[in-house]
Amino acid sequence: MLEGLGSALKKGFDKIAGAMFLDKKTIELVVKDLQRALIQADVNVHLVKELGERIKKESEDEKVKGIEKKEHLTKILHDEILNLLGKEKHEIKLEKGKQTKIMLLGLYGSGKTTTSHKLAAYYAKRGFKVAMLGLDVHRPAAKEQLKQLGEKIKVPVFIDKDENNALKTYKKFKKELEDYDLVIIDTAGRHSLDKELVDEITTLGKEIKPDYVFLVIQADIGQAAKTQAAEFQKACNINGVIITRMDSTAKAGGALTACNETKAPVFFIGTGEKANDFETFNPNSFISRLLGLGDLEGLLERVQSAVDEKSQKKLKDKLEKGHFDLRDFQEQLKQMGNMGSMSKLLEMVPGLGKAKIPENMLDNQEGKMKNWQHAIDSMTKEEIEDPEIIEKQTTRLGRIAKGSGTTTSDIRQMLKQYKILKEMATGTGDLANFDPSQGLNQKQMLKIAKKFGRKMKF
Ligand code: GDP
Ligand code: MG
Repeated sequence: MLEGLGSALKKGFDKIAGAMFLDKKTIELVVKDLQRALIQADVNVHLVKELGERIKKESEDEKVKGIEKKEHLTKILHDEILNLLGKEKHEIKLEKGKQTKIMLLGLYGSGKTTTSHKLAAYYAKRGFKVAMLGLDVHRPAAKEQLKQLGEKIKVPVFIDKDENNALKTYKKFKKELEDYDLVIIDTAGRHSLDKELVDEITTLGKEIKPDYVFLVIQADIGQAAKTQAAEFQKACNINGVIITRMDSTAKAGGALTACNETKAPVFFIGTGEKANDFETFNPNSFISRLLGLGDLEGLLERVQSAVDEKSQKKLKDKLEKGHFDLRDFQEQLKQMGNMGSMSKLLEMVPGLGKAKIPENMLDNQEGKMKNWQHAIDSMTKEEIEDPEIIEKQTTRLGRIAKGSGTTTSDIRQMLKQYKILKEMATGTGDLANFDPSQGLNQKQMLKIAKKFGRKMKF
């Protein structure tokens, strides 16, 4: 169901999360990918264009910086998609002991009869006393189809095999139907919304006075759902839409967004032929599912590294100037607390979270991290700002080791790690041109591996 759109969205959000800095180019790429996916899902080109422009414009807010900027853009993207699908969840209000009538309308083959039994099963399962009424009176097969579906889900079906007048059929069962909390009324379709169909629906509507009238549309028709929903809205005063066959088309985005555009809210979606292939439509959770995430919160959490924002921002500002000294390194070490590992540390450096560095290359460092911190504490300001002098003057190395209760080899190792991290974070040296959204390439990986002096498997 809309897998293409889902994976494009996911890719977009990952790109944002993985970008070291959100520059104009990255934003444009993300927007372009998203637009392409929306158009593939049959969303109207004009809507897609407007959406892209709004995202770009809003993301240009200069006041928002650093990690906040990523969150900001993530939220804008999310909200724009939500806006396309409809903000709210629309629900039917039912009460036990009080009769509610739902009438389904739609063209031939849109899924009215199948949806009738899905709705019936949905509410029967929730403890309501449900019945179905078959008013597709012209075709004997239609009545039989409803009856069989009713038997499958054990919901009573009211049909009159010998009657071909819908209104008369209704009147015949009216009294009996009063015993039910919910009556679902299946009606006859047409090839198009012609006068005959409007007349029949109007007559039925006047007599039955349904609490809800839903238009059933198949998702395959994509954007064409707009005209259809608008026409039925005008002629029959529908409350909303049920979209079927979400499972069998890539165009569902068109149908969903078109209905939202015409202000004919989507109440339910059908996702298969069986009674259970049915769900209420909640735009918010629909997007979350497309993304494979819990909700917007989850999404934002992914964007933020799990660290103190303020110090991250400070670090980011420094990185932007190409600066990352031992003090910053120590700050990162501290934030990791006891549970950290080298790979965790990488995660915390903005933009490096996505660098797919093999775990085994970076673990076994935990014990050493405390030592490293002590070592940095024993350094002079001069040494912290220019660590190279430590390596050049071994007396310094000895002094620091002694002062911090560590060994000179501990300190050497720490300096090595620091240098690698610095290169990656500031984009200098061997790792220049490192694109965080792409992760490290094989050559860069090998370089790091060499520096660590270990063998790695790819
Ligand atoms: P009606 O003419 O509007 O009453 O349409 P039907 O309920 O008879 O459905 C027409 C066809 O669409 C049937 O073969 C159904 O099994 C199929 N159908 C209905 N809803 C869905 C759905 O959500 N997914 C799929 N794959 N098929 C569906
Ligand atoms: Mg039917």
